[in-house]
Amino acid sequence: MAMIGIDLGTTNSLVSVYRNGHPELLPNEWGQFMTPSCVGVLEDGAVTVGAVARERLITHPGETAASFKTWMGTQKEFLLGGKTFLPHELSALVLRKLAQTAREALGEEIEEAVISVPAYFNDNQRCATRLAAQLAGLPVKRLINEPSAAALYHSHAAHQQEQRLLVVDFGGGTLDVSVVDCFENMVEIVAIAGNNRLGGNDIDRAIASYFCDQTGLSWPNLAPQQQRQLLALAEKGKIGLSRMRDRGCILACQIDGETRSVPLDGETLRAICQPIFRQVKEVIVRAVRDSGIPISAISDVVLVGGSSQLSVFVDYLEELFSKRPTLAKHPEHTVALGVGLCAGIKQRSAGLQDIVMTDVCPFSLGVAACNDVQDANPHMATLIQRSSILPARRTERFFTLANNQRHIRLAIYQGENYYAADNLLLGELSVSVPPDEAGKQSAAVTFAYDINGILEVTAESSGGDRRRTVILNPRLNWSEEEIARALERLNALPDQSLPQEEDLLLLSRAERLFAQLSDRRREEAAGIIQCLTQALQSGSPIRLAQERERLRRHLEDLEAWAQRDIWGEPYIEDEEDML
Ligand code: ADP
Ligand code: MG
Repeated sequence: MAMIGIDLGTTNSLVSVYRNGHPELLPNEWGQFMTPSCVGVLEDGAVTVGAVARERLITHPGETAASFKTWMGTQKEFLLGGKTFLPHELSALVLRKLAQTAREALGEEIEEAVISVPAYFNDNQRCATRLAAQLAGLPVKRLINEPSAAALYHSHAAHQQEQRLLVVDFGGGTLDVSVVDCFENMVEIVAIAGNNRLGGNDIDRAIASYFCDQTGLSWPNLAPQQQRQLLALAEKGKIGLSRMRDRGCILACQIDGETRSVPLDGETLRAICQPIFRQVKEVIVRAVRDSGIPISAISDVVLVGGSSQLSVFVDYLEELFSKRPTLAKHPEHTVALGVGLCAGIKQRSAGLQDIVMTDVCPFSLGVAACNDVQDANPHMATLIQRSSILPARRTERFFTLANNQRHIRLAIYQGENYYAADNLLLGELSVSVPPDEAGKQSAAVTFAYDINGILEVTAESSGGDRRRTVILNPRLNWSEEEIARALERLNALPDQSLPQEEDLLLLSRAERLFAQLSDRRREEAAGIIQCLTQALQSGSPIRLAQERERLRRHLEDLEAWAQRDIWGEPYIEDEEDML
């Protein structure tokens, strides 16, 4: 029985394990560590998770979902091929796929999983993550904050005795910043701040919108398929620019039968990203301020997450800190390796027993309180301050405001705003008190926030009435029966079988290339789709194997072409004809 670590990302998810003295990533059936967090429903109603679904985002936008993690904890419905899914159900399908990857790679069953979540995930979002794990049949006791996992791995791998780090995790949909104190075998998260609606996706959108401005297109008027196509083009240009920073590129795309192209260079990209970077700076400033540590005392700025590979981003941070940040070796792997390490610590692996990690509460927690009976707009009486070390526990007493008041009602909030109503309402609790003069009777309220980010509130009145509540989103706090029903529904979804998946990926890639390319190359992509379909229908495994290899090579050539035609050289519709 194995203990695994899971980085359930907005864009990509990874699974890791601690063995042979270090955390290791486990490869999926494609030999890759990153499984795209995408879910698709195929024509026959079967569900596909990962690379195939990612390919189908452009060609089948109505049957494919991505970035659903940004909706965790809400009731937003995703309609995929006529079936509706909630964000935690889609996440459950991703988790189930990762569990399968782990089982196959390890050859054993999974005993328990540690899952990372963005530090800024509130209570609802954490509960939704646990529910997703439950629906995927994964026992999860521990959630770890993503920046804490990244910091844990970095400090462990750096072998340095004493460090103060600022860890910036810039992913596809979220930004997390943490200030970490490392001393011998202790890793102390001093402060965390984040924005769970800011990431590489926003850069893609900004580039796509720039493309529209420059070519006279109107983004809202584009069809979903065209929007996805433009976003994919923007992402490709962005990644290309970060790899070959000194060369500009040309974004070219065929929309409504017309090829439109826009040049993009580092300077333009930086101008496009400026509003996004400004928001990144705000989060960094908040984390550093909360930590109480002066900027000059920070020994290193460590960058993790896919988007931190963007060279204009690294340059921006270099100017901000007047020193070059350290880009992790594989910035997209750091969190998952940290979660693997955490799994190792949890199973008390040799060499890890004495690592101590402390984490902090990312937001303030309190109750709504009034100053007197006339007070119509209650303020937030904070019991647990943001950045308190976990586990945190505090008790405070609240008194009656009116004569003969029979109940003390406690509305529990999370957030940093002065007025309670401006914060997030987590739950309510009420205790009864004996009739008396105002201010004579009271309730002692205790908040206990544990390392997994679960809040427990207890209230005991002077009249002896005692109530306890564990804060869970009422709508996510499902009964056993509801969970069983959801499980039945997910289990009834046919899975595509593995050998099929390989061909499906080829087909989906060809379909995407068909959508992206034009003229002769588009026909070549169509040819590949036809050949593969025929080989599949022929039912001959030998023919299929032969065709598969040939078509794969052909697809790779086309892919190389698709990558190249946005690069450096001026965009020429058909280069060979010019030679
Ligand atoms: P998440 O944690 O949200 O799952 P990742 O850490 O895997 O995300 O990062 C995904 C994001 O990184 C995407 O927005 C992707 O476009 C971006 N990305 C990946 N490679 C690069 C690169 N070389 N340059 C810039 N951005 C990149
Ligand atoms: Mg991530």
